Amino acid sequence: MPHATLFAGPEGTGTFQLALACARYMNCEARTEDDACGTCNKCGKYNTWQHADTFFSYPVIRVNDDTNSSDFIEQWREMVKADAYFTLDQWKQRITDTKQIQIFVSEVPVITKNLSLKAYEGGPKVQIMWMLEMMNEKAANKILKILEEPPSDSFFMMTAQSADSILPTILSRVQLVKVPALSDEQIAEALQDRHGCDAKRAMDIAYLADGDYAKAVQIYGSTDDQTAFLAQFKNWMRACYKKDGKAIGDLSAIVSKYSRDAQRQLYDYALHFTRQCIVFNYGQLELARFTDEEQKFAENFAPFIHHNNVVAISELFNAASQDVGRNVNARIVFVDLSLKLHRQLHRKH
Ligand SMILES: [Zn+2]
Repeated sequence: MPHATLFAGPEGTGTFQLALACARYMNCEARTEDDACGTCNKCGKYNTWQHADTFFSYPVIRVNDDTNSSDFIEQWREMVKADAYFTLDQWKQRITDTKQIQIFVSEVPVITKNLSLKAYEGGPKVQIMWMLEMMNEKAANKILKILEEPPSDSFFMMTAQSADSILPTILSRVQLVKVPALSDEQIAEALQDRHGCDAKRAMDIAYLADGDYAKAVQIYGSTDDQTAFLAQFKNWMRACYKKDGKAIGDLSAIVSKYSRDAQRQLYDYALHFTRQCIVFNYGQLELARFTDEEQKFAENFAPFIHHNNVVAISELFNAASQDVGRNVNARIVFVDLSLKLHRQLHRKH
């Protein structure tokens, strides 16, 4: 094993699970050629998140000068135990309402200390770092030394959404493993196996999730929301097209009561829907990621999306999603967006 490995892949592709599986494999007492046994004493400790020589680092909010991951270990345990596939947004929501999260420089002495300890379980020590791109520059500079020469029998298993966002000084010291997005079939199969989802619905969800298993699980857990989003989206687009001030006002009141996360999900959903309309317009029905119900609406709505407005509309949804993330007044974002959408929907082909 190289002493530092970076698994880089988009959210929901299982980079964290790979890091974890490697740590378990290295520690397993009866590993086979291709996997850990899953049943020995060590595997048992991994299965219950109790392996004493496996340490976790992840982005957190700043509490004081010594802030590090262990300050949020309770929330972290709850999160990983609920489902090892989770998104950055879900983690953020669990620990903060507004603040920025990072891996701070004060994380590094804790890592150094953990890896210098005598191995409690007698096997290799593994430091798992989730979302390495959220490590600030100070921390990145400070970690270089231990990354290059970790204490004996110590290993780094790190994850990032993309290698592009990692400093070259770090990249040059790790073994990079690029993890590709999952196929729709893989996602649908996992939903069926792990959640008992029926085949038809699993495929519908896989289309929406776009290669992101964490998102698929999120949609599966909130399919009502997804159906609600479609209903909301239909009403909203009709109101925008007609410039129906009352309907827009009513909708803005409803949407502004959503959590900020849900507001962003609505705008992300709108963005997804608009993009799929273009695929639909090109007659690539089987490529358009629509559920049956969405397709019915798309038959009416897609003709209003075309090469003269799709870029502008996508940018509007993106900007709205970002504004919500920055705490801009939710009703103003929604109304302003609706009026701009009205103009775009009336643009000629
Ligand atoms: Zn084992």
